[in-house]
Amino acid sequence: MKCIYLDYCATSPIAPEVQECIVEMLPHFGNPSSEHPFGWFVAEKIQIAREQVAQAINARPEEIIFTSGATESNNLALQGVVRPRLAKGVSDTHLISAPTEHRAILDPLTALQAQGTRASLLSVDNEGHIDLSELEHLLEKGATLVTLMLANNEIGTIHPIVEVAKHCAQYGALLHCDATQGLGRLRLDVQELGVDMLSLSAHKCYGPKGVGALYVKRGTPISEILHGGGHEAELRSGTLNTLGIVAFGCAARLAANQQTEDSQRIQTLTGTLAQLLEDSLGEIHYNGSSSETLPGLLALSIPGVQNTRLLSKLQTKVAFSLSSACQSASKTPSHVLSALGLKRSRVDSAIRLSLGRYTTAEELDEAHTHICKAVLALR
Ligand code: PMP
Repeated sequence: MKCIYLDYCATSPIAPEVQECIVEMLPHFGNPSSEHPFGWFVAEKIQIAREQVAQAINARPEEIIFTSGATESNNLALQGVVRPRLAKGVSDTHLISAPTEHRAILDPLTALQAQGTRASLLSVDNEGHIDLSELEHLLEKGATLVTLMLANNEIGTIHPIVEVAKHCAQYGALLHCDATQGLGRLRLDVQELGVDMLSLSAHKCYGPKGVGALYVKRGTPISEILHGGGHEAELRSGTLNTLGIVAFGCAARLAANQQTEDSQRIQTLTGTLAQLLEDSLGEIHYNGSSSETLPGLLALSIPGVQNTRLLSKLQTKVAFSLSSACQSASKTPSHVLSALGLKRSRVDSAIRLSLGRYTTAEELDEAHTHICKAVLALR
């Protein structure tokens, strides 16, 4: 039996165009740092990929640092700014973030706190929105770096990064944005956003896993965290993941070119699925923002249904997550849903359905039938 994939926010299939690109690149094994034709050929392909990723977010190619994914990009952004300050004995390093960030932000923050960095977490309302006046209040007291995601991976809530950037600029704080869920779903323009650093991951936008990038605006005070051969403008040592990077370039170009069309289509499909579920199941609680949300992400709580039981009933028919794939591994209630202050019963009945480029209306009809059957059986 076919299992319907509704977990695009966990990861996405590799686009056929990207697969072609990988196959073409496979025989080219040269090291892009080598000074001979094998290396030159690959170096040229890497340069094209760098330009493609840069163009997708309106950055300069030299501002793109390839990494192993968004976890590394986030670590590089945070630790790369803080560690040199700690080494110099600067005592007033202060980071600001939110409790709804991905663990790839919260865990490095905790690690830096243990090394003497001050960190403040903004409060969020029950839809995951931050309060800009609280941010301003914290910035007034002095801050080194603010890190906030563009769109939340569990509930889809979008942070007002443009406004945040204006406040950061006014008080001289750096701004990093984890935009992992944004590429291909939201318009991404680092100039418009006003960020100093921005994290990306290829596998969320129809590229392969294990490759991503950190946009670092020219002049940002940041140092490498992996010491080695000084690759990537001395910011990320290690022989480049040539296949992954070339594939990421291709995926990023497609994602940016098709963003408006893809987002409109999946947002319409998401609305249709929500309506079908509401019509059949009665009251449903939507988690996350009611106004500013990520296209294709449906975070909902179905009253009277334990999410873990729903998952085990459905998991061979419909592929989805309770909250996020990363959270599923830890088996603890989602820190994001907990931060919203939702009732335990609502957290325990929460699921995340996420649609993507290859989701069809027929698949959603089928998924709806499976979900309703399972819910009725469990109630
Ligand atoms: N940040 C966000 C918002 C994410 O959704 C993810 C992936 N779940 C990551 C960071 C980590 O990305 P990667 O898998 O590329 O390390």
